[in-house]
Amino acid sequence: MSQHTIIIGGGGIGSAIACFLSAASAPGDRVTVVERDPTYQMASSSLSASSIRQQFSTPLNVQLSQFGWEFMRSCTDEAGVAGGAVGLNERGYLFLGREDQTESLRQRAEGNRALGVSIHEFTPEELGARFPWMRCDDLAYGAVGAAGEGWFDGYMLQQLYRSRARARNAQYMRGEVVQLETRGPRIVAAILADGSRIEGDRFVNAGGPWSANVARTVGVEIPVRARRRTIFVVSCPTPLADFPILIDSSGIFVRPEQHHFLCAVVPDEKSDHDDLPLDPDFTLFEDAIWPTLAERIPAFEALRVERAWAGYYEFNTVDHNGLVGQIGPDNFFVAAGFSGHGLMHSAGIGRGVAELLTLGNYQSLDLSPLSPRRLETGQLIVEDAVY
Ligand SMILES: Cc1cc2nc3c(=O)[nH]c(=O)nc-3n(C[C@H](O)[C@H](O)[C@H](O)COP(=O)(O)OP(=O)(O)OC[C@H]3O[C@@H](n4cnc5c(N)ncnc54)[C@H](O)[C@@H]3O)c2cc1C
Repeated sequence: MSQHTIIIGGGGIGSAIACFLSAASAPGDRVTVVERDPTYQMASSSLSASSIRQQFSTPLNVQLSQFGWEFMRSCTDEAGVAGGAVGLNERGYLFLGREDQTESLRQRAEGNRALGVSIHEFTPEELGARFPWMRCDDLAYGAVGAAGEGWFDGYMLQQLYRSRARARNAQYMRGEVVQLETRGPRIVAAILADGSRIEGDRFVNAGGPWSANVARTVGVEIPVRARRRTIFVVSCPTPLADFPILIDSSGIFVRPEQHHFLCAVVPDEKSDHDDLPLDPDFTLFEDAIWPTLAERIPAFEALRVERAWAGYYEFNTVDHNGLVGQIGPDNFFVAAGFSGHGLMHSAGIGRGVAELLTLGNYQSLDLSPLSPRRLETGQLIVEDAVY
């Protein structure tokens, strides 16, 4: 029997699902993506730092990154450049550790290596020799990814999924889902803000930072919250050779972006409220980022903020990992809560959800540990490496 799948939200995750699902669908199946803002002004996927790393504390996240990298490399541009169609650049993440952080970073590197990730570890002396512009006197350890890490153009990736999905007959429609209509244990239709009603057989909640609102329309609670994150674009007059994607021992993130750098920090828990307006929080730069980075990299004393933007992490407050799978009504599925690593994992999530919907189980990579059932069973998978 043919199936009509309705995906709520056409950001990176919803469009990746539409892309893979439309490729796997049987004749007669339909895929409709309902997106309230086709300009994606507030979508996380447009406001992302769009970086990819292999170094994670959760093995499944490593595997999702491996596929994410492989997928993006396969997106060649017209000149045949691998990754060119999504602006992929390879550059390793360098994690810095003080003495008290070394053991867990080392264990993580070991676990990642067992999964095929190539990592170079450094003593403070080796770090100083390799990155002479950096102060290392308080450091005990560094680990840099040797392959499969870097950055890409998140908007291009989302658009690539979208255009592939449309080329395979997925329909994109503008509209805001305000209610999901149920009959017995199933959802039968999505009701839009303009009063229209779309009937479907399966409903996928890919509402990103707003996915908890979508779930609530059928009485389902998911711990995904919109948490503001500010990205600063800064310039430094001194050229710094061979700059990696740096995660400082303080947790501050900084990476090159053409002639500038992007940097960010996770706000204090007590000021990290839900749904804050998307205005950049400049106090984070003044109070946390600048003083810390200037200590680490003396040339950064002269940093200048060129511009800044803010977007929402779709933050899973329970274990900082995506919630992927069926939840609540029999034909309701969620793919949300990726907590800052959703775009790099979007290809693997799209492929997995398409398998689940068409075949009833995962074939390529078992995503069942991400099932929302873990919230009931308590089998949480906590990701420590969230920045
Ligand atoms: C500042 C920042 C930096 C980041 N850095 C990285 C990074 O370096 N690497 C990485 O992999 N990830 C990063 N992320 C996270 C990544 O961007 C997200 O995980 C990913 O974009 C989530 O995609 P999504 O499709 O779930 O959400 P979105 O892109 O937000 O898409 C959700 C869509 O759903 C629509 N929607 C919501 N509710 C409804 C409704 N009721 N009806 C219709 N439509 C609806 C919205 O309009 C929106 O377009 C970052 C995020 C931010 C904010």
